[in-house]
Amino acid sequence: MTSNTPVSDQLFDRARSLMPGGVNSPVRAFGSVGGTPKFMVSAKGAYLTDADGKEYVDLVCSWGPALLGHAHPAVLDAVHAAVDRGLSFGASTPDEANLAAIVKDRVSAVERLRMVSTGTEATMTAVRLARGFTGRNLIIKFAGCYHGHLDGLLAAAGSGVATLALPGSAGVTEATAAETLVLPYNDLAAVEAAFAAHGQNIAAVITEAAPANMGVVTPGEGFNAGLSRITREHGALLILDEVLTGFRTGYAGYWGLTGRQEGWAPDLLTFGKVIGGGMPTAALGGRADVMDYLAPVGPVYQAGTLSGNPVAMAAGVATLSNATPEVYAYVDARSLELSAALSAALDAAGVDHSIQRAGNLFSVAFGTSAHGVHNYDDAQRQESFRYAPFFHSMLDSGVYLPPSVFEAWFLSAAHDDAAMNRIFDALPAAAKAAAG
Ligand code: PLP
Repeated sequence: MTSNTPVSDQLFDRARSLMPGGVNSPVRAFGSVGGTPKFMVSAKGAYLTDADGKEYVDLVCSWGPALLGHAHPAVLDAVHAAVDRGLSFGASTPDEANLAAIVKDRVSAVERLRMVSTGTEATMTAVRLARGFTGRNLIIKFAGCYHGHLDGLLAAAGSGVATLALPGSAGVTEATAAETLVLPYNDLAAVEAAFAAHGQNIAAVITEAAPANMGVVTPGEGFNAGLSRITREHGALLILDEVLTGFRTGYAGYWGLTGRQEGWAPDLLTFGKVIGGGMPTAALGGRADVMDYLAPVGPVYQAGTLSGNPVAMAAGVATLSNATPEVYAYVDARSLELSAALSAALDAAGVDHSIQRAGNLFSVAFGTSAHGVHNYDDAQRQESFRYAPFFHSMLDSGVYLPPSVFEAWFLSAAHDDAAMNRIFDALPAAAKAAAG
């Protein structure tokens, strides 16, 4: 595939000689869409600028964190001020509790919070904590849900694992894999059956609050509530992974949009992405009695040199303080506008598709209009070959989409009319490219 971005080409050649696949996170390598990944040098508002000086409207938003748009002035000011006070102290700082208080205030299911550095660390710790608290070993996860790259949860993981068409990961021992039961998403009967067979040994069910790593999948009516009921009945915990959805799909995350009104609460939640506003911060939180099983109060060990890093805390506090209900209403409206325009362009080009939606997150699944996408099998059965030409047409028109059909599209409060119009203008040609 020819490229009109020679500087990115050169940078990629160099990177490949220095790093596996030239990247530090697999999906960035454009493996499933082909071509050379663009190397970005700056980001502002709704736009990214690559090393060749080409500007793109960004629909990746750093894979979620940039809810306010890139380089939001209030976040940059807070970060600059924090940097001036020093980068890391190896001791507690006031902003750790400030951020924890904001999270607790917004998400009432959080009674205690522990800051970590990545979403992977948050889910890894939640799983260890669930095992420590219950004294049981088995974890249930759902095929197509991605919870980070901890060994035990890589089986049938979505995201990059799905993009690379891997069944799981080499390097995960059979003993570790055997402690994870992988069930089809949206299938409560399968969960009931697993608990009937292994209930005494199941420590937790972990689920994305709304899956967004096999493309977006809407949790069926009562599915998450059912998981809460079943885990409770069997003395297991429910871990709701809100790393991606938390503070993005709504003021109190996806649980705040749904579960809170339905009258159930998860035992543990994990957060990442928006909570750090683009800096490496994530967290786990939940019931005080469970969280207090963590060291130094309880017997489950967890620690981190850079946990609660002061610069990251400043970014998180500034981001959440500016993520008002108005911001969510704006992003929700933009998301509806864009998904409608996308659907209309695909219809006009005669491309069968469905739009998969959960709150303001959405993705497109080709060739699925008859049944939609309810689980990983549905997601994998789609006509995914249509995505690469669609993606490259958008890229050529200056719109940066996730380089995989299995990822959600992300909008921000900075996607104004000018940015949206650039996307709308690009859609018809991309839809024709997808038609083939
Ligand atoms: N959980 C979910 C739902 C995610 O989407 C991700 C990352 O995309 C993670 C966990 C892992 O987070 P991180 O990439 O920060 O380790």
